[in-house]
Amino acid sequence: MQQRLILLLLITVFIAACTTSPMGRKQFILIGDEQMNQMGVASFQKMKTSAKVSDNHVANRYVRCVANAIVNELPEKWHTQQWEVIVFDDNSANAFALPGGKIGVHTGLLKVAKNQDQLATVIGHEVAHVISRHGAERVSQQMGLQIAIQTTDAISKNTMANQGQQKTLMSALGLGAQFGVLLPFSRSHESEADLYGLDLMAKAGFNPRMSVNLWENMAAASGGRTPEFMSTHPNPENRIKKLSSYMPHALQLSQVAHANGKRPNCK
Ligand SMILES: [Zn+2]
Repeated sequence: MQQRLILLLLITVFIAACTTSPMGRKQFILIGDEQMNQMGVASFQKMKTSAKVSDNHVANRYVRCVANAIVNELPEKWHTQQWEVIVFDDNSANAFALPGGKIGVHTGLLKVAKNQDQLATVIGHEVAHVISRHGAERVSQQMGLQIAIQTTDAISKNTMANQGQQKTLMSALGLGAQFGVLLPFSRSHESEADLYGLDLMAKAGFNPRMSVNLWENMAAASGGRTPEFMSTHPNPENRIKKLSSYMPHALQLSQVAHANGKRPNCK
């Protein structure tokens, strides 16, 4: 009897662990979305106290406009979630998105992403990491579930957690550049975020061709702290080549969006 129960439990865990990313890649994940959301929310809270939140209304409104257009295109589970979008006063050209509906954009990014379509490329990329559960894959690979839960608890209660574990957790979520431990997403995570991100921005009615200009600007401007999205792309030509071969599909999505009256006009 007990053996059958154990077998049943094992099967349940196995089914929960095997999922598929939006781009069709098989994944092994041991941590549920609920747990990941708690980690994202706690980490965002910490960001808001350790970094300077921008009070520039124009910049905040502009970034929110682009982010909202992309959030509208997410699968139901995510687009019905409340998303918080915040601009941070920081000169590095960086941005991030966290499980639990959190998006952060640095003011430095607004100098490199020169129009709404280029900004949509970066926000699409970051949100694509979240929807593809890349953080959950990394936490599953790099931390024990128990340690991840304890660390989340410590971050949210602001108690003295093991600093190393805190940094590991936050960089697994994609906040490495902000906390000084850059744990780059793997090449396959990055490519998946590039292509799924392009889908999202094109579905929202942004111009997918601008993604190529964005990555060119980014390569030219890189220096100082390496943004998360440049960390595993030492060769921007490869990235642009992949995007270009995906472009016909993305252009089709944006045409459908335009036919449906989706023409973002974020300023
Ligand atoms: Zn990335």
